[in-house]
Amino acid sequence: MVNLIYKHRLVHFDFKGAIPRISFLEKIIPLISSWGATGVLIEYEDSLPYSGNLTQLQSPYAFTVKQINQIQSICKENNLEVIPLVQTFGHLEFVLKHDEFRNLREMDLYPNALCPFHPDALELVLSLIDSVMALHSNANYLHIGADEVWHLGKCHKCQSEMAGRGWESSDLFLQWVSKIALILKKKYPMITLIMWDDMMRNCPETKLKGMFDVYSKVFDRIWAASSFKGSTGSTQFIPPVQHHIDNHLTWITTLKEHQSKFKEICGIALTGWQRYDHYAVLCELFPVAIPCLGLCLRVLKSESFLMSDHEEISQQLGFHGLINVFPFPRPQILEQEMSFPGHELYIAVQMWSNFVYKYQIICNSEG
Ligand SMILES: [Zn+2]
Repeated sequence: MVNLIYKHRLVHFDFKGAIPRISFLEKIIPLISSWGATGVLIEYEDSLPYSGNLTQLQSPYAFTVKQINQIQSICKENNLEVIPLVQTFGHLEFVLKHDEFRNLREMDLYPNALCPFHPDALELVLSLIDSVMALHSNANYLHIGADEVWHLGKCHKCQSEMAGRGWESSDLFLQWVSKIALILKKKYPMITLIMWDDMMRNCPETKLKGMFDVYSKVFDRIWAASSFKGSTGSTQFIPPVQHHIDNHLTWITTLKEHQSKFKEICGIALTGWQRYDHYAVLCELFPVAIPCLGLCLRVLKSESFLMSDHEEISQQLGFHGLINVFPFPRPQILEQEMSFPGHELYIAVQMWSNFVYKYQIICNSEG
């Protein structure tokens, strides 16, 4: 089979709900670069230092301007492209939960999605983007999110506007995203825009093959998004490593099969979700998923999963044996002497998982 040709392997840094210290990033960024990452896709949400009427959006633990610059300097020193991600439609809970922005919700009860027909919606989204771009003046790419817009075209205003124009909800989605994209293209002409595709899939049962046939007719360049954590359960706390390795091997095979249909495959983003939404608990914590991330990046680089790769990444992280790729079922005997950044948390969560299993056995036993 032909070789897979693409430029980027991006690691998704999802800072929502667990903002890392710069001292941790200083250790982890060189590590992912050594594993073959070429960039980071950073989802800041409330971890940015906002100003003006957006000041209230920032978390008490938000980065300072100096720290945002430090993150970019560390990435540059390690030859990593920095791609900021700004949500522009759904997943805007961190904005719409505030009383001042509540009237921009699509449905008053739910803070997820913005109403695209609200007269202040465009100004809000552009302010969010400007805030991020002001701190990333050297960015070549901007990701505009747009995934999981759960409440689309539900309000009276949207319903009547859609009826008047003969639109379905998919038209409403595409019109809003196109509007944002056109404005950004004028305002930031050097920036290449990226977005998630899930709202453009016609039906959930669409198979990967069918999807590529459709996309290749509309888009000439695509990105793929895999996952190294945060995608197998909202309360999962240890990533099922072999599952993620298999997922990457499948992506490689699929992209090889379909790459001739596209002008270019730009790259693969390894997503690492922190939690399923703004109000959900954190799922797998980043340090707990570092061994999984190392193996997945190695799989992408070698386009296979060899014992030598498994051994090398395990040794690099200070494991005496091999990284455990089958963490379930529990309990399991634990290795406790690795040395990678955040390994203390990795060990603690492994112990916790054993404890939970034993507790459930006791609770379910009779007598
Ligand atoms: Zn609406």
